[in-house]
Amino acid sequence: MRMINLCMGLFTAFLAATAVAQDLPKIQPSVWTTHPDAAAFEKTENGRLDAAQRSIDKILSVKGARTIDNTLSGYDEALRQINAAGYFSGLMEAVHPDAAFRDRATAMTRKVSAAQTALSLNRGVYEALAAIPAAQADPATRYYLKRQLLEFRLAGVDKDDAVRGRLKKLSDELTEEISTFERNINDGQKIIEVHDAAELSGLPKDYLDAHKPDKNGVIHITTDYPDYGPVMDFAASDGLRRRLSLAFNTRAFPQNRDVLAKMLETRYEIASLLGYASWADYYAADKMIGNGARIADFIRDLDKAVRPVADREFQMLLAQKRKFDPQAATIGVQEKSYYQELVRRAKFDFDSQSVRPYFPYPAVKQGILDTAATLFHVTFRREENTPSWDPTVETWLALDSGKVIGRFYLDMHPRRGKFSHAEMSPLLDGIRGKQLPEAVLICNLPRPSDSDPGLMDYEDVQTFFHEFGHLMHWILGGQQQWAGISGISMEADFVEAPSQMLEEWLHSPQVLASFARDYKSGQPIPADLVLRMNRASAFGRANYVGQQNGYTALSYDIYNAKPQDVNLDAIADRDALKYTLFTALPGTHVYASFGHLSGYSSAYYTYMWDKVIAEDFFEQFDSKNLLAGDTPMRYRREVLEPGGSMSANDLVKNFLGRPQSMKALQRWMAAEFDTAPP
Ligand SMILES: [Zn+2]
Repeated sequence: MRMINLCMGLFTAFLAATAVAQDLPKIQPSVWTTHPDAAAFEKTENGRLDAAQRSIDKILSVKGARTIDNTLSGYDEALRQINAAGYFSGLMEAVHPDAAFRDRATAMTRKVSAAQTALSLNRGVYEALAAIPAAQADPATRYYLKRQLLEFRLAGVDKDDAVRGRLKKLSDELTEEISTFERNINDGQKIIEVHDAAELSGLPKDYLDAHKPDKNGVIHITTDYPDYGPVMDFAASDGLRRRLSLAFNTRAFPQNRDVLAKMLETRYEIASLLGYASWADYYAADKMIGNGARIADFIRDLDKAVRPVADREFQMLLAQKRKFDPQAATIGVQEKSYYQELVRRAKFDFDSQSVRPYFPYPAVKQGILDTAATLFHVTFRREENTPSWDPTVETWLALDSGKVIGRFYLDMHPRRGKFSHAEMSPLLDGIRGKQLPEAVLICNLPRPSDSDPGLMDYEDVQTFFHEFGHLMHWILGGQQQWAGISGISMEADFVEAPSQMLEEWLHSPQVLASFARDYKSGQPIPADLVLRMNRASAFGRANYVGQQNGYTALSYDIYNAKPQDVNLDAIADRDALKYTLFTALPGTHVYASFGHLSGYSSAYYTYMWDKVIAEDFFEQFDSKNLLAGDTPMRYRREVLEPGGSMSANDLVKNFLGRPQSMKALQRWMAAEFDTAPP
């Protein structure tokens, strides 16, 4: 059995000491067993890249007929090594406590990325894979080959030298443009001045405490989210919200107008050289959605599904506004969140602070583990005394019928220099009989202490469920024959479906009652509080989806046209007007700070596409008893376990018996109007 490329001597000792149960000798040592310092980390990483290169050289030196054994196996081994190197350096960048180590990890990530690019443009490897007679292979292997060959062609590997040279140059330019675009956004913070403290009326006390006037009596408010969000939600002053909204939506303008225009040109030329009519078409070619026209269809269908519910929500906001302004007929973008909060409190009688005592971190963690164990028919076992990069990190094994099927690390609390959002960070691809899938949950949830039980907000608990959905997908999908079809390697526009679906478990009074207990009294969360929480969180969903659809249209429209025909401001204004009900503020340029236009480019539809699938999946479960019946196991078998061994379109059809529809999403959006008992 092949191990990850660390120190074999130590592994053996480690295994001998812990080999108690029958399956344990099969467990690979944890990544931190050798306590690597930066030099040892680099040695490991370089060792992986060298092993990948040896594997590639071996494929290229094969004489005679190509077979799965003499070619695809070596290719997959190269992929496994390069992936492992990339996952590890990415993880270290995100979590290592030492800044110098993190910098060396960043340099390593660049090196791994260069190796990936070189492999994707290696014509010899492409031709070797293309020469494998696939007809006799099993369906998963056939699908793997077909998909890899498509990816090679999308990289331009089969073009002549001149075109490949040009593609390489364009790709370098694109990398530079993306980085400039994102840097401009990161550096694009704006600050507004407030000269009259009364303008902050409505904001919570902790916000006021953090925003005291300076010696000249001026209060400074930035466009960063912790400053911006509360003003939009709570500030009674429309003038303040208007000024901050304008500042927020002109970040990185005008600089990014030109950068984005250049990016559109670069991408259009890449798509043209590869034989596609637009970047939107090119970029959709290896996704579930397949081509650009289907993105347009999706936007149109989603708009139809949203409109009736969005209108209903809008009328409630308008009624609220008319209490202050009886003649009001419109609601500005800067008023939306503010009136939404007022309606939530008035109509749904829900204060988000009231649920926090039911969500102390240790109970939530155990509750999520127990829920996932029942739902996915697995068990979890803590690995005690396993070393890791920080003493707060926990290591766990996932078991199926007593057999270890994966390992995960929980790095759940904030730390200086740590990645500040939430993500599942893969660590090893799962390969059946060869390598256990491993991953790390990186979150920033409250840490329990002597004085504080680590009470979590509703959104925190939702994030935990979401990321755990990715983790289960990684582990249960990580039992494939090849690294290249393992875990979440399917089309990129499916990956957020299982994670978004698991968020729904948080809405179940039955599931919540099993772990959400008041940390003082031990009483379970009352069902009527869950109902009010669910209604309040449902209010505003349709207008949110409408706004997302407007962004989706922007992302599609600018990449679907010839760059010389694109007027960024005209398209951004038109799409906002067409898909949302709120009146825009003149003078905003939202595209300049819309970071996803660089990374996701034309594929911003992914979020709503996967939300549609997630809600459709969720409706297949018994809402009265989400953990019972055949559906959980069927979901595991038909959706998660296949990993990337078939198209996600087939996973969806296998589970639903049909392609996804928007009906479930429509019910989800209108849940606050639902009068049926929970
Ligand atoms: Zn996610």
